[in-house]
This record gives sequence, structure tokens and C-alpha cells, in this order.
Amino acid sequence: MSDVPTLPETHSGIPVYLLDKARATKTAVYNLKSNAGADTAIPRRREVPALPQGVTAEAFQAAMADLRTLLGAEHVEVIDQALRDGWYMEHPNTHDMMTILDDEEFVASAVVYPGSTEDVQTVVRWANKHLVPIFPISMGRNLGYGGAAPRVRGSVVVDLGRRMRQILDISAEDFTCLVEPGVSFYALHDEIQARGLGDQLWVDVPDLGGGSVIGNTVDRGVGYTPYGDHWATHSGLEVVLPTGEVVRTGMGALPGNNTWQAFPYGFGPYSDGIFSQSNFGIVTKMGMTLMPNPGGHESFLYTFQREDDLAQLIEIIRPLRIRNILENVAQLRHVTQSVAVRGQPRSDYYEPVDGLVPDDIIHAEAAKTPTGDHTWAYYGTTYGPPEARAVKLAAVDAAFRQIPGCRKIDTSTFPADEYFWSRDKIASGTPDLHELRWCQWVPNGSHIAFSPVSPIRGKDAAALNELARKRHEEHGIDYFPAFCVGLREMHLIVEIVFDRTSAPKKAAALACLRDMVDDAAALGYGEYRTHLALMDQVAGTYSWNDNALMKMHEQLKDTLDPNGILAPGRCGIWPKRYRGRGWEMTRASGTSSEGQGVEAAQK
Ligand code: ADP
Repeated sequence: MSDVPTLPETHSGIPVYLLDKARATKTAVYNLKSNAGADTAIPRRREVPALPQGVTAEAFQAAMADLRTLLGAEHVEVIDQALRDGWYMEHPNTHDMMTILDDEEFVASAVVYPGSTEDVQTVVRWANKHLVPIFPISMGRNLGYGGAAPRVRGSVVVDLGRRMRQILDISAEDFTCLVEPGVSFYALHDEIQARGLGDQLWVDVPDLGGGSVIGNTVDRGVGYTPYGDHWATHSGLEVVLPTGEVVRTGMGALPGNNTWQAFPYGFGPYSDGIFSQSNFGIVTKMGMTLMPNPGGHESFLYTFQREDDLAQLIEIIRPLRIRNILENVAQLRHVTQSVAVRGQPRSDYYEPVDGLVPDDIIHAEAAKTPTGDHTWAYYGTTYGPPEARAVKLAAVDAAFRQIPGCRKIDTSTFPADEYFWSRDKIASGTPDLHELRWCQWVPNGSHIAFSPVSPIRGKDAAALNELARKRHEEHGIDYFPAFCVGLREMHLIVEIVFDRTSAPKKAAALACLRDMVDDAAALGYGEYRTHLALMDQVAGTYSWNDNALMKMHEQLKDTLDPNGILAPGRCGIWPKRYRGRGWEMTRASGTSSEGQGVEAAQK
């Protein structure tokens, strides 16, 4: 095994073309760990393994023995050892390596590695028999939202990716593919190249390519080609239900069909939606569309000087985006992030450990970079042959230049390692490993996101920016916002970067997040996705008509998962056995993730 595992060596490895970059990143990350240069074993302070409530130590041992018999002892791992965070490319599947709570919350009791859909059915039936909560992950790199960690402490993590990692189909005729949970964006891209189809087929990739296509899609992640919205561009699921049956959705329900990856709906209710951001099933196969190579692309970078340019810029972006003149999910990033993504710790610029790095220092540092000083940087890409691109680029240029101080940056002389080239690659279907460099802003750098959606309007951008900035200042946290503009809405992604070993920094980050979620909801904004610790609070903001939507989700949960074994509490949906026992994590409940027991088994 190489010092950074590569893709041929493991399903979660780095593609060979990124190996040097990965090595450099690993060195930088490890140098910023408390135990400089080495991974710290996090000693366990509570009894191990972490048992789920309602399961005694004896019952757990018996359940594990049963599971080993069913799946093979080599595919079952009890987690009774110290935890290790590793780093992005060598991440744990036992806990959240970027935890905002105490290390002993959100910890798995065991990890199981099914090798097939039938094995997943076996695991689900086993969980029902022993009433052990299980938590599925595909790759477990959902960083910023909980990573591989289960919501209920002591759950058994079902690590689908390690053994279920096949690319079952790539169709160069239909521009579709069919994948298992262990297929990362890196792996799909590599396989397309290996088959000599790279000139034809593009994969829509997120900021980092190490996540699985399935995990990212079911959690409704985005990428940066014109396909962008992963959920909208998938077609067909195979799902193991919480009671062990398997269903195929859309055309997959028709035996012998030939359109599973081409027509997502099939006949009757469109059921895919209930399997995204939920705990209603385990996805074992998924169809995904691939984008035809548009015959060329060109990325561009504009900067804007004043904080207050934001509102006018967003007004300019909206019609261009809806008309598809701005063709991809484009990013408007703040200068603090432009400085941080260079990968230097903030202590290089500013000595005090607490408080925000002053604006004048950030601007002075930005001025030294190839991009130059700015407050907002717009990264976009245009597609098609040169003449088609020229028309669109001219329209964008004329529109952006209405803002005084707007500059189009000449990127042709940028060094090869400049962040701009990472955005360029990602926007044209080549996964990269650059984005997380801003985690190196602080020692043991970790991140957690605040991700509200809003219309693409200047006043909404300004309102969200103002509320988030104000809360960051109150809590003494450097402010890293980026607006990701979809077609008719935008996600504001604010990443809070914190020292994972510092209790006060974690507390400040959590308090800041709780404040922002409440502030945003009071103005009519909701999050599109959130971390495990905030799921109850965020779900609680979607409360129209006396929580009618959550009541419907609970009905679905109780019907599909009567024993409440599958990912209890994920996305705020608690099964009947847990309800009314204080499992919800809110501002009032503090930092404990557990409630007062579960309903006794109905025998
Ligand atoms: P990634 O593959 O991007 O690393 P994860 O495996 O961390 O993503 O999964 C992201 C979220 O989606 C997790 O909360 C997980 O429970 C859920 N999830 C991932 N894979 C599946 C799946 N195959 N079926 C159901 N839920 C899944």
C-alpha cells in the first residue's frame, strides 16, 4: 500500500494523477495536528464499545456472534479501540473525524461490510431481530455534515462501499451509468478514462472527488458542470427497505426493462424522493446520467471590490443564470476564503489565536496573490465550441462590468497549483483535491457548514450575508461564505473552520450555527442539508401547518420501519420507539446526543 492509498489499491483511494497533490496535502494536514506529524489516537473515556440504548452488553455480544455467523467474522468489526481521525483520503468509518461534539458522541459500536444486496438484506433482518440501530454509509466522507458518524450513539455502521464497489454499466450511447455505493467520483472518472471514453463522457463532480456518487446524490449534493444537481440527474434506484425487501424504482420495477437509467419515473408515484435525506431505505444501486463533452470549455474569474457589490451582482447573475448564459453552478466566494484556500494557517498572517483576522490583513494578503485584492471572486465556466463561448462570454462581461471596480482576471499566467485551475477542472468533469486547503487555517482544522437556500435576489443575498457575518463576529469566528448559484435558487455555503481539539472553539461554532439557523428561519430561509447535530433544529424549522410534513414522515417511518432500526433520527425523523424521550438535539438539550432510552421490544 502506498503512503496515500491509490484507487487501484482501495475503493476510497486517490487517482494516480492526484497522488503528488495528495501527498503534499497529507503532509500539510499532519503538520497541523496537535501531535505534529502523526495521527493522534483518541483514547476512549466511556465504556467500549459504545452500546446503543436498549441493548445490554450480553445482548450485544450475542447479536455480534449472530452477525459474524451470517456475514463471516472478517466482515464484522467491533469498535472498542481508540479512535483515529486520519485525514480526507484515509478517513475513519467509526465516527465524525470533524466532530463538533465530544469524541464519545456519534460513535459506532461496530462496522459491518456487506458484499451484496442480499448481504444488506441479511444485515437489515439481523438488526430487526436484535433491535440494534444501523446506519448506512457509502464512502463516509460526508464531511461538514457528520462524515461517517451515526446519529444514534452505538449504532452499527453499515459500510457499503468497501465491498460493493462495482461500476455495473457505463453506456456511451445513452450517456448513463449504473453504480454501487463504493464508487467514488474519482473511480467513475478513472474508469471512463480507462475505457477510452474520456473524450465523450463527463462526470459531474463535487468540490472534492472522494465521496461516492450514491452518498453524495442521496444527500442532494451538487457538482459544477451544467448537470450540477445530482439528485435531479440520477435515474433509478435499487433499495433495501428497513424490513429487508428489495425494490427497484422507476423503470427498474418492470422485469426485463431497458430504460431504468433513461426514464426516472416509471409508472405510478415517484418514490425515489423518500429515499433521499431520509432513513427509509438503503440504496444498493443507482443510475446516473453522464454529460456529453460539449466540445470545449473555458473558465473565467471576475473580482468585485466592495462587500456591498454583492446585492447588485446577484441581481445581474439571476437572469444570466436562468437563461443559461451562465451555464454551470457558479461560485461567488469571499476574499477570506480566497486567502485561506492557499493552505497557510491564519497564524502566518495574524498572531492572536482568538478573534477574527482583521479585514485589512486579509485584503493585504489577497493583494499579494495572482488574483489580487477583492472582496468577491466569481468562478464560472462556459461551454461549447469557441464561437459559442465567445457570445456568452461577451454577454457576461458586459453585464458584470456594470459594477464599478469589476475586474476580469487574466488567468493565463496563473501557476499550475492556483485554486482557479481546480475550479476549471471540476467544472469540466475532472475531480480534484484542493478545496479543503482552507481547513489548514487553524490547527486540527475541521469544518461544519451552514447551508441556507434563497431566491437569486440581491436582497436575499445581502440579508443572509449580513446575518451570518454578524453571528460570526459575535462568536469570534472568521467568516468563509460562498454563494453557489443553481438555476432558480442559490445555496449560501458558510463553512465554519474550527480546531477539533478545542472545546471552546467547538462550542462557539455550534452556538453560531444554532443562531444562524434560527435567524435564517425567522426571515423565511431554510437549510438544504445539515450536520447530524443540527438535523432536529433544521427539521423543526420546516413546521408549516403544525408540523404536517414531519407527521407524514413519521407515518412513513413507522410503516416502513416498524422497529425503528434504520438510522434513527437522521434528518430529524425519529421512529416511534424513540419519540417523546428527548432524543432531539436542540439548543436546550445542549451537547448530549442521546435521549432517555427507547421503548421496550414488543415481543
Ligand atoms: P459520501 O459517499 O459522499 O462520503 P456518505 O457515505 O458519508 O457520503 O453518506 C452521506 C449520507 O447519506 C450519510 O448520512 C448516509 O447515511 C447517507 N447514505 C449514504 N449512502 C447511502 C445509501 N447507500 N443508502 C442510504 N443512505 C445512504
